[in-house]
Amino acid sequence: MKPNIVILTGAGISQESGIPTFRDSNGLWENHDIMEVASPEGWERNPELVLKFYNLRRKQLKDVQPNEAHKAITKLQEHFPVQVITQNVDDLHERAGNKNVLHLHGELYKVRSEKNPDLIYEWHDDLHIGDLAEDGAQLRPHIVWFGEPVPMITKAAELTANADIFIIVGTSMLVYPAAGLVGYLRSDVQVYYIDPNAKEINIPNPLTVIREKAGTGLPRLVDKLIEQA
Ligand code: NAD
Repeated sequence: MKPNIVILTGAGISQESGIPTFRDSNGLWENHDIMEVASPEGWERNPELVLKFYNLRRKQLKDVQPNEAHKAITKLQEHFPVQVITQNVDDLHERAGNKNVLHLHGELYKVRSEKNPDLIYEWHDDLHIGDLAEDGAQLRPHIVWFGEPVPMITKAAELTANADIFIIVGTSMLVYPAAGLVGYLRSDVQVYYIDPNAKEINIPNPLTVIREKAGTGLPRLVDKLIEQA
């Protein structure tokens, strides 16, 4: 039986596509305090600013392309069952052809009713005050903001528990509950962690830390796994 490979990705995997991470820029996300644009309090205080911020992120997405790291996952899935769990809100995994992608923190190209988290719509253009869901409530970005529940974490924990190999790419392992997923791994599962600033993670598993950019580190690891298969 082929090993089941689960890959946890963060903002770092999209950095070489030209989407900045915010932890690398002093906690600012495109020059905004993160709590201003990614918290329920920020939305309550200044919804126009929040909408403008995500409208710009949606526009930015049209100008960027998947990079070698996203493409390496497409290659890997030709040889193994692969599941991606991403904290990213961009669609670069999908555009690279990655098939099984679970978005933990929502998606830029989706919006939802402010009142009902289950009323979700595809949305590729700008979102404005006055754009309403079917329930009459204002539409907001379908993004999990700081302090909000992460409904997909249960599914992500199940997928992690079924991993035979676990690869972590481009994430600081500081944002919870995503960072806690490693706690669901069987203790014999080999973990690879690719991030130029990777710190040691406190887990009982065999751990290989690769302090490289995703665009070089991941294709090399993928080639090694395919060769060993
Ligand atoms: P994070 O905490 O996961 O940190 C980013 C990590 O990426 C850092 O550890 C950094 O060392 C690493 N990194 C930077 N360049 C890299 C590269 N070329 N290759 C591999 N690793 C690299 O993520 P964050 O930026 O603090 O963002 C937290 C949350 O904000 C995300 O989980 C997401 O919900 C949202 N966010 C999403 C995007 C996106 O969708 N592309 C971008 C920024 C922030």
